[in-house]
Amino acid sequence: MSKRDYYKILGVAKGAKSSEIKKSYRERAKIFHPDANNGSKKAENQFKVLSEAYSVLSDTKKRNEYDRKRSQKEPSRRSSPKGWGQSRSDRWGYGFGNQESQNQTRQEGSFGQTAAEDPQPHDPNAPTRGFELQFMVDVDFVTVALGGTILYNYEKYVCCESCDGIGETNGKKCDECGGKRQVVKETNLEVKIPPGVADQYVLRLQSEGGEGINGGPPGDLFLKVCTKPHSIFKRKKSDVYMEVPISPELAEHGGLLDIETLDAVKTIEIEEGTLTGEELRIPKNGAAILWGKKRGDLIIKFLIINS
Ligand SMILES: [Zn+2]
Repeated sequence: MSKRDYYKILGVAKGAKSSEIKKSYRERAKIFHPDANNGSKKAENQFKVLSEAYSVLSDTKKRNEYDRKRSQKEPSRRSSPKGWGQSRSDRWGYGFGNQESQNQTRQEGSFGQTAAEDPQPHDPNAPTRGFELQFMVDVDFVTVALGGTILYNYEKYVCCESCDGIGETNGKKCDECGGKRQVVKETNLEVKIPPGVADQYVLRLQSEGGEGINGGPPGDLFLKVCTKPHSIFKRKKSDVYMEVPISPELAEHGGLLDIETLDAVKTIEIEEGTLTGEELRIPKNGAAILWGKKRGDLIIKFLIINS
């Protein structure tokens, strides 16, 4: 969890309504647009932090969690004197290489020299790579365990159709984008969750970030998979654990019982004289082992409960 003050970053009060947060985000996103900042690396980083702040505060559940953690930290929390232009490489350090290797990718993938490395004044007509976007996404337990597809909704910069990305029409500044050449657009994307990814795994969706400017390549979208807790199942790597309550009679005499696993209904045999806390392992009924067709085990713990 970031120590940053997302409210300050978005310039809103702690009790701000979601509409205020959205409005402020959009205003600030424009300010940190590369065209408005000669493509500066600093502005780009600020934009990333802004996106992260917005992804948390625009989601009621994440916002509540953030507020809760912050109120716990409050007494020892130091203010952030450097503001929020600093490197964000202290977070999300796994799953997709570090900041440095991203910069390398940027250099290799750039069309000519990118603005960030360019000591000359930024040429507004130079091809500029689109923003990289980083968000967290909540995904159902079973989808993470076995893989699947989710529909992800987010906002990104795309070419302004009103002026064809030129920023002006008939010699006048474009009304639609205010001369920024791009506008924010809501985007729906089908995202494949690979079977058995770990919680907090970061997916890289190539070219799904902001569109480039003046023919520059698009940025990438990074999604951190946050597993929603399940009411029954828990997961340790590729094994899944569940507790199954059984009656004292069934425990004493044994018998058959139907249980719902991640993706099926199984009939299991309860042995005579089963004790509370006793476990039964069902092979290959756990989570997928990453990228493969194999699966971990399902471990059932019996709890004898008087009904
Ligand atoms: Zn326009």
